[in-house]
Amino acid sequence: MSAPAKKSLGQNFLVERAYQERIVAALEPQPDDAVVEIGPGRGALTRHLVGRVRRLVLVELDDALAAQWQTELGARPDVEVRHQDALTLDLTALDVAPARLKVIGNIPYHITSPLIFHLLQPGRRAALIVLMVQREVAVRMLAPAGGRNYGALSVGVQTAARVERLFQVPRGAFRPVPGVDSTVVRLTPWQPPLLEPDEEADLRALTRAAFGWRRKQLQRILREAPGYERDPDHVALLAAAGFEPVARPESLAPAEFVRLMRALRRLGCPRRDGRSEASSWE
Ligand code: SAM
Repeated sequence: MSAPAKKSLGQNFLVERAYQERIVAALEPQPDDAVVEIGPGRGALTRHLVGRVRRLVLVELDDALAAQWQTELGARPDVEVRHQDALTLDLTALDVAPARLKVIGNIPYHITSPLIFHLLQPGRRAALIVLMVQREVAVRMLAPAGGRNYGALSVGVQTAARVERLFQVPRGAFRPVPGVDSTVVRLTPWQPPLLEPDEEADLRALTRAAFGWRRKQLQRILREAPGYERDPDHVALLAAAGFEPVARPESLAPAEFVRLMRALRRLGCPRRDGRSEASSWE
């Protein structure tokens, strides 16, 4: 497996064994688990998973790597190689009880945000997700209200799952050496989920609108944001729901966004107006 690394597919391979083992250990693989690995690459994590779990699904977009895995492991009854874009993977079609399904990946950084969004779609969540992401993305996922890293991604991820920052992986642990720092995070989706699927869609619409204008006051955002703007009295709504109309979005904790989303739903906001579904939080 030594074709040159493809930058376009985010190929920075993790070569330090100690980190490979730590990442796999964070998934706590059990003999009864079904594990989906996103982007096995040259097998940095794969080799520590084969034979340890009941079913291992390898999802690789690279033609040559997918073909190599098919040759090497495709005949094993406990391994399935899928040559596809992980963003099109339908976790429900795997026919695995969500409680036994785990996802792991040292994921290509250019698809991090849509991929996390995809993995946390309502009704398709695994029991545990361990990902290596760019350090800045981990910071934003974990950010508490009030700071500049707090945004729609923080609210979306934190309302869907418990997020843990596990450890940093130095650039020197990869080949080729990447230009960014990496952090391993573990997501444990809330069980049962905190929100209904349509509430999640409305929360996403609200946070996208709010953080799209993060310097504006809530009353102004609601007066002007598409889907909310026709409601006559946002100041009264905000006051009745216990919010300061002059507050800025970054001061609202995830639970407060949920409360605001529910108050707006009672008024029929956001109106859909034929807008298409988002594929990311941002
Ligand atoms: N897991 C290996 C490791 O830790 O060394 C490889 C990690 S490398 C950062 C990312 C891997 O994801 C590459 O193998 C790349 O070909 C694959 N990849 C890139 N885009 C993908 C996509 N959309 N769906 C599935 N795999 C993808």
